[in-house]
Amino acid sequence: MQVDFLIVGQGLAGSLLAQALRARGQRIVVVDDGWKSASSQVAAGLMTPLTGRRFTLTPSYPELFAFAERRLTELGVFRPTSVYRMFADDEQKEKGQKRAAMPAYAPFIERVTTGQGELDAGLTDSLGGVLMRGAWVDLKRLLAEERTRLESDGALFAESFDLSEVQTGPEGVVWRTVQARGVVYCDGYKSAQRGPFAYLPWQPAKGEAVSLRSDAPQKPFILNREGWALPLGEGRWRTGTNWAWEGLDEQPTQAQQEKLIRRFRGYFGQEVSVEVIAHVAGVRPCTSDNLPFLGTHPTESRYHLFNGLGPRGTVWAPTLAEEMAEYLVSAKPLRPDCDLRRFA
Ligand SMILES: Cc1cc2nc3c(=O)[nH]c(=O)nc-3n(C[C@H](O)[C@H](O)[C@H](O)COP(=O)(O)OP(=O)(O)OC[C@H]3O[C@@H](n4cnc5c(N)ncnc54)[C@H](O)[C@@H]3O)c2cc1C
Repeated sequence: MQVDFLIVGQGLAGSLLAQALRARGQRIVVVDDGWKSASSQVAAGLMTPLTGRRFTLTPSYPELFAFAERRLTELGVFRPTSVYRMFADDEQKEKGQKRAAMPAYAPFIERVTTGQGELDAGLTDSLGGVLMRGAWVDLKRLLAEERTRLESDGALFAESFDLSEVQTGPEGVVWRTVQARGVVYCDGYKSAQRGPFAYLPWQPAKGEAVSLRSDAPQKPFILNREGWALPLGEGRWRTGTNWAWEGLDEQPTQAQQEKLIRRFRGYFGQEVSVEVIAHVAGVRPCTSDNLPFLGTHPTESRYHLFNGLGPRGTVWAPTLAEEMAEYLVSAKPLRPDCDLRRFA
């Protein structure tokens, strides 16, 4: 079987890259081990403009968000939703209010509140907060639909990819019955642990999330303070998350479940019931400078990487999948801040 590119991994990165390459007339196959370690399966898929304790805007956020909105709407998985970031302390309040008043942030700010109950009487937002224009992305649907497409094209190998099975020659690479011009690693944090790109400065971070049923009143926005709670209707919620840099085992822990539920309950000014439906853990493919890793291996020219999407894959991936495809097909230079050549 002769193709242009063999993609390793069908998470958010591999799925959108497969689509971008197909749109450019490229023949592709994808090898995926059944989402065994997919961060994309665990993520809530939130797009939140102001993040972190300092309320910073991701670099190029307006441009990335606008493209993601267009592309993910075409795919039927973009859900525009406001996000209510409640201030956790006075320092956050001061920073948040300052940022919200800056012209660059204006398109994403719907309202700033200064005290409890201004937006919704049932919340514990005693310091107020910022209501932002955000979204969440139905990642499960995106992944499932792309998988169906790959299966019907006969382009999916539901297998584990192992570099020791690859032969490299002047014509390209051979993996089992597949001959390809190159391999593109879209294998999430696994690239940090083994393979040709393990030399890059990765900082993978584990996170957990809980799906639950609750009698908490549903809200028309995502709740956000330290973590988040996404209302899914009919008493269903998704809540997360935490950051851990040790023990990257994808195993949910009882201690985190208790913490997430405590935080969820803490958003509401009344007692609320909680019934856990699912509890999952995943590892974010984070990088030392919080920017993705795209490009070609410095000495192995057949090996490429589209990875390092970190905690904001939904914001980066739609734009970068197009840029990566242009780079692979037409050698168009990558944006320097995401090009892996920034690390010698
Ligand atoms: C708890 C949590 C919450 C998050 N919340 C958000 C959020 O709200 N918003 C947001 O934008 N992002 C969020 N993220 C981050 C987001 O999940 C990632 O940025 C993005 O999904 C990464 O996609 P990826 O395709 O690069 O990697 P992955 O989704 O990890 O996909 C890699 C794929 O490769 C496969 N694979 C790996 N090795 C092999 C192999 N050897 N052979 C075959 N297949 C292989 C894996 O099984 C998987 O299917 C969150 C992450 C976590 C863990």
